[in-house]
Amino acid sequence: MFSDAFVGLTCTDCGASLTVDDADPEAIAGAGRCPDCGAPRVPEYDLDAVDADAVRAGPRAWDRDAVLPFDADAALSAAEGGTPSVDAPRVAEELDLAGVEIKDEARNPTGSVLDRGLSVAVTAADAAGAELIACASPGNAGQSMAAYAGQVDLRSYAFVPTRSPFSNKAMVNVHGGEMKVVPGRLGDAVDALAEELQSEYVDLGAFASPFRHDGLKTVAYELLADRDWDAPDAVVLPAGTGELVVGVVDGLRECVELGLIDELPPVYAVQAEGCAPIAAAWQAGRDDTEQWETPDTIVGELEVADPPGGALALSAIAETGGEALTVEDADALESAVAVASTETVEVGLAGGVAAAGLWALAADGTLGSDDEAVVVNTEAATKAPDVLRSHLMGQGV
Ligand SMILES: [Zn+2]
Repeated sequence: MFSDAFVGLTCTDCGASLTVDDADPEAIAGAGRCPDCGAPRVPEYDLDAVDADAVRAGPRAWDRDAVLPFDADAALSAAEGGTPSVDAPRVAEELDLAGVEIKDEARNPTGSVLDRGLSVAVTAADAAGAELIACASPGNAGQSMAAYAGQVDLRSYAFVPTRSPFSNKAMVNVHGGEMKVVPGRLGDAVDALAEELQSEYVDLGAFASPFRHDGLKTVAYELLADRDWDAPDAVVLPAGTGELVVGVVDGLRECVELGLIDELPPVYAVQAEGCAPIAAAWQAGRDDTEQWETPDTIVGELEVADPPGGALALSAIAETGGEALTVEDADALESAVAVASTETVEVGLAGGVAAAGLWALAADGTLGSDDEAVVVNTEAATKAPDVLRSHLMGQGV
């Protein structure tokens, strides 16, 4: 079931471990947060057991199963990953950067980067014999979870807030998932899941599952492979739960340890100004996030007031020498529209936050004319095209 290099799970706080040598495989696959202290658990790998050449090639996420928990043969997969890094020369010229590439995660099976993580997390839950999986989500994770659960007729239950885009809600059901639409915001959906779902279930929320962020590692391998293992000067990501930041930095670190690149490129985590607990903690020099009291951003996918991966993301950003920053909603929409109208790529709202972060990093001189940047578009514009279109209405278009 497990890959050769997978050692087991370790608690990120107390360090308690659950290893393949001394624990039941189903217990590992079905594990959640640490039973002793409640902190997230993360997979550990013995990279000495990984052939670096085996992870250089391969278009799809599971082609790199040597650094994932499970063998590809055992995976619930729909050809996630293998997304292109699209050159954006007009953006690079406008910002006076040496180069810009957009890693376009919209081209995953359900149109978001989270397919990489949910493919691994649903595989784990199924391997553990779960009869019901669930998560509270702004939208994309619920859709992705339902999509993978359908492959094995596994019952799934997504709790989403009312503000979740119609496309997410519709597709949860189209994939055969059950759904509760909870009045309010993401925090209300999190509470409702904990209080209302009476059956026993495996929680596949970010960092409730030790496997979800781990699948996002493959973004790092691919963006480096796309550049023939020449690390960029900046990797710019949107941040909500913190899982993408943590997953990508884990992947970059593994690539250093495997000798595929020399050092970690700086990772810049961008949040919407109206809900920015990670950036606020970063700017205050704290090592953990505080709950954001009045979350209010048009980018619902990133409106995560109490990010479960906040502390892990802060330490990951620091390790790379990057930073966390914020952008205004209007700038996120403007950047998404600018990329779509000049570079073809249909950047979603969360991707627009990352793109606006690139604009900000160029404007304040953090990045300059020698720098090559990779921006990750995490979701398809077609998940909420009305929001992008209404931004143009404000300009009289
Ligand atoms: Zn613990």
